[in-house]
Amino acid sequence: MSWHADHDFRVTISGGSVAGLCNAITLRKLGAAVTVHERVPGPMLARGAGIVVQRELIQLLEDNNAGPLPFTTCRGRRYLDPDGGDGVLQDMPQEFTSWEAIHKALRAAVPAECYRAGSAVTAVSQAGSKVAATLGDGSIVESDLFVAADGSGSAVRRQMLPDVEARYAGYVAWRGTLDERDVPSDLFPFFNDRFTFSEARSGGHMLAYFIPGPDGAVTVGSRRLNWVWYVHVSRADLAHTLTDKSGVQHRSSLPRGTTPDRAIADLRARALREIHPKMAALVSETPDPFLQTILDVTVPKTLFGRILLTGDAAFVVRPHTAGGTAKAAYEASVLARALQSARANVDVALQSTERLQLEYGNALYQYGLALGNRWSRERNTD
Ligand SMILES: Cc1cc2nc3c(=O)[nH]c(=O)nc-3n(C[C@H](O)[C@H](O)[C@H](O)COP(=O)(O)OP(=O)(O)OC[C@H]3O[C@@H](n4cnc5c(N)ncnc54)[C@H](O)[C@@H]3O)c2cc1C
Repeated sequence: MSWHADHDFRVTISGGSVAGLCNAITLRKLGAAVTVHERVPGPMLARGAGIVVQRELIQLLEDNNAGPLPFTTCRGRRYLDPDGGDGVLQDMPQEFTSWEAIHKALRAAVPAECYRAGSAVTAVSQAGSKVAATLGDGSIVESDLFVAADGSGSAVRRQMLPDVEARYAGYVAWRGTLDERDVPSDLFPFFNDRFTFSEARSGGHMLAYFIPGPDGAVTVGSRRLNWVWYVHVSRADLAHTLTDKSGVQHRSSLPRGTTPDRAIADLRARALREIHPKMAALVSETPDPFLQTILDVTVPKTLFGRILLTGDAAFVVRPHTAGGTAKAAYEASVLARALQSARANVDVALQSTERLQLEYGNALYQYGLALGNRWSRERNTD
């Protein structure tokens, strides 16, 4: 089947987060009629916090007249020993942003009529070159291409690749942000202008950097100090760790504001024992740490006829790569370029997209595994 500019090429996307929105932007620019279905009904809660700015995302925003993306900068790194001291400094400028800032910049570039909040895709089926997607309300939408950007727990991936499972990597990421105005004066100069790392005594490590404020402000005084601490949690303890203050057990994360008080107290006590005193003070000052489990997902295929898996729905890479959003942006750009250069043959374009996705996804996955295994005590078993 061919795709011409005058043909109404319809694309349905499940997931309105980073990967879904990147694809909506690039495919709309090509002239496709795009609808994003996001199961979350209201405003999207910030599920992440700090993100290291990567070129692929900036390029996508620039190429599509989207953004600007607010970001903070630092001039170098500080490597700390858990025993204390000022650590080792290294010049290495870096830029940081936040999940909210990325989401806001991408969402602003997708018109309201292309985005359906509170609309889950429950199943997909295809006949010839058409894909029928069943929505949560029972209705069915038909399109020429279906892009599954529904994240690490992707329902579409489960349907297409039932044997592929998200594997627990053996550790979790405790995360937190502290408004800059609440950062104690003895901590501020230590963390300001630095990407700070501390190894932990029993394995794992913590890192911290300034990110834009909740409203995207980047001036000194209005930013947030963001931290991530990778902590080993045995499989046996995971269910308990993922139980929130109301007693509800979550699948893979404890959203901000739901962490039980005793878990916060335990985390603070552990920080005093395990990491650099200034990092421990940062953990103590943070009001509502939250948690994400670290998962591994690899797929042997991303393309099933006219159904394409993308973003975390395809590969979930370790966060040490700081590459998840870059991967999502790269995949969206690759798909758009392939469709543009093979306008006469959508299926050829999709096949070349899949090849590049598998190459990039596998390479980033392996890199993340190597970085993670350097830090984690429980070695990956696959
Ligand atoms: C601890 C941690 C730190 C990280 N740090 C970084 C970093 O520094 N830099 C970086 O680049 N990346 C980082 N990442 C990864 C990054 O957040 C993701 O890779 C990136 O945002 C791409 O996500 P996505 O859009 O594919 O999936 P998600 O963000 O998970 O979005 C999936 C969306 O699909 C929706 N959805 C789910 N099911 C359905 C359905 N059936 N129908 C409709 N909608 C559905 C969900 O509500 C959600 O909005 C980190 C991840 C973790 C866990």
